[in-house]
Amino acid sequence: TQRTYAMLKPDVASLHRDAIVKMVTEGGFKIVAQKEYQFTLAAAQEFYAEHEGRPFFDDLTTWISSAPVYAMVLEKDNAIVDWRTFIGPTNSEKARAEAPDSIRAKYGKDGSHNAVHGSDSVESAKREILLVFPELA
Ligand code: ATP
Repeated sequence: TQRTYAMLKPDVASLHRDAIVKMVTEGGFKIVAQKEYQFTLAAAQEFYAEHEGRPFFDDLTTWISSAPVYAMVLEKDNAIVDWRTFIGPTNSEKARAEAPDSIRAKYGKDGSHNAVHGSDSVESAKREILLVFPELA
């Protein structure tokens, strides 16, 4: 079994939390920790450090720290890859075209406001869980 870090981004964290959490559990993911979490700008910059210097970095980190996210640690076999498949492509329009049942197809707006996050590797999952859930260390 494997763990991944998932989060509902600010625009859906309160508005669509119940519907998305239902999809998560019906999708076979066990929620082992969950909480509302308010990023500071500095913490958002650390979370998305790999994107520093990209044109969307400032808008992304300002937005992620603008209101609470809903953070979750999910567990299942192959959780990291399966969660990224479950949420769909980064761009919500592409998700609607290619993965209409995915979370991003249903709740994402565009290429940046794409409803949810998922760790992209074992190392990222460890790092992200530790940043947001240091109490699990
Ligand atoms: P996440 O890391 O949030 O799960 P991802 O791994 O699918 O998304 P990344 O390439 O890691 O995508 O980008 C991280 C986040 O940065 C995206 O989820 C999106 O919110 C934003 N982003 C990525 N590319 C762009 C872009 N070209 N324009 C605007 N925002 C973008």
